[in-house]
Amino acid sequence: MRCLLRSPIFSALNEKVLNMSVTIKTQDEINLMREAGRLLEIVHETVAAYIRPGVSTKELDRIGEDKIRSLGCIPNFLNYQGFPASFCVSLNDEVVHGIPSEDVIIQDGDIVKIDSGLIYKGYHSDAARTYLVGDVIPEVRQLAEVTRQSFFEGIRYARAGNHLNDICKNIGAYAAKHHYGIVSDLCGHGIGTHLHEDPEIPNYPMKRPGIRLRPGMTLAVEPMLNLGSGEVGWMDDGWTVVSLDESPSAHYENTILITDGEPEILTMTHA
Ligand code: MG
Repeated sequence: MRCLLRSPIFSALNEKVLNMSVTIKTQDEINLMREAGRLLEIVHETVAAYIRPGVSTKELDRIGEDKIRSLGCIPNFLNYQGFPASFCVSLNDEVVHGIPSEDVIIQDGDIVKIDSGLIYKGYHSDAARTYLVGDVIPEVRQLAEVTRQSFFEGIRYARAGNHLNDICKNIGAYAAKHHYGIVSDLCGHGIGTHLHEDPEIPNYPMKRPGIRLRPGMTLAVEPMLNLGSGEVGWMDDGWTVVSLDESPSAHYENTILITDGEPEILTMTHA
């Protein structure tokens, strides 16, 4: 039986950003962010190959952490505000921040969210993917596809001169068009020498335009959508975020670079 904490504690990975202004990366820093992103993409591809029925979520964490370290990088989720693993592995109605466990075994029909990040030479990357295991019902397949696409709908507007809300409102509009619940208690964030930097990036329209986007900003944009309501609760492990109505949830995230033209997706260098 699930035990929900009704009022979230402020230890969730992407709940609280550091109180700092939005950083503009130099060309050297951009190159390091690019490499951090490229390596994280490799890590995600490595872990994805092991997702199948019968595998524990802890095994995925072990495989992923080994890969991060073999690439000469540091897992940035591990011990972040006390988080006990390098990967968040969240199943079905778990939205984000699922703690890997030997006792949680992936089953046919599961929707699996894998979220992780790494540090390369002091620079962070962060990305999440949603995987469908075996025979997943069409409604959930569509949820995963729309969540992924909502990221791309948002970042079409992620270019210098536009405002932050141009990203947020277009993610939200696409999700609303499909009548999905937008998880509004969690949001994306700036990223650089810290995992979570300013600005916070909601997945719904803000009341204000927000900051003006400038070349050299690096942002982690991460829509989280539920098949039902967007309301979430926290399990009593203090981490795992679940949909309150127990509906399936999907998550998709990349670290991007703002340029004068199209944004560069640092954690997705090939399709
Ligand atoms: Mg993130």
